[in-house]
Amino acid sequence: MDEERIFLSIEEAISAIRNDFCQYPSQNRLFLELCPLILGPNTAAVEDARYNGLWISAPGRRHFSRMRKISSQELARILLDTLTARPPPIEVMAEICRRTFAAQVEPESNGTGRGTGLWVDTGMARFKCRQCGRCCRELDYRHELSAADYQLWQELGRTDILERVATITRSGRIISYAIWVEPGTRRFAPVCPWLAPADSRAPPGTWICRIHDVKPEICRQYPGSRKHAAMTGCTGFAG
Ligand code: SF4
Repeated sequence: MDEERIFLSIEEAISAIRNDFCQYPSQNRLFLELCPLILGPNTAAVEDARYNGLWISAPGRRHFSRMRKISSQELARILLDTLTARPPPIEVMAEICRRTFAAQVEPESNGTGRGTGLWVDTGMARFKCRQCGRCCRELDYRHELSAADYQLWQELGRTDILERVATITRSGRIISYAIWVEPGTRRFAPVCPWLAPADSRAPPGTWICRIHDVKPEICRQYPGSRKHAAMTGCTGFAG
């Protein structure tokens, strides 16, 4: 059961929120919801669609006449700095995580011996891949291959896959990888070469991965959560 939820200490939760803000930097609506929770209940903040930014009062104050313009990125930084310097009580932290991760979050006060932290439901129990191939075609994972993926293909002798991987070396050692290239070149293929239409027994518009059993870790782990799916156009949680 716990595979569908992860436990985060307060520090790990703040780190996960930081990652979320870095990954999706212009979440104005979310930042507005978080302002009173992190900066204090009286902080006033409003969105200004004219320049894709916001207006905010001094933290903890509701002086609309003294509000200043602030970019999404700057507000995100202030929220993170405040959260790091003064983590709120666990119940408030749970609410911040609920809104940030769009997930069910339960506070934990050492009842299971893990210390104080939060249980975050990834929502993956309700995920079902529609095999639409959108993630394969539209997401940029060209520099996300892991050393473990590369090593596995070497061990399996999968030269058909390896010939589509470019390696970047320094002092004779591989320091990073690029996928998928045209064999014998360092030119990226226009789309993933392993993506193919499913056979006629499958519903129209269904795609398969021709290296499904050994596909890269970045593909196996996608999407990491309901929010990740929603932010990247995956329909695996629909219906
Ligand atoms: S976008 Fe989502 S539903 Fe479509 S193939 Fe990728 S994981 Fe599956």
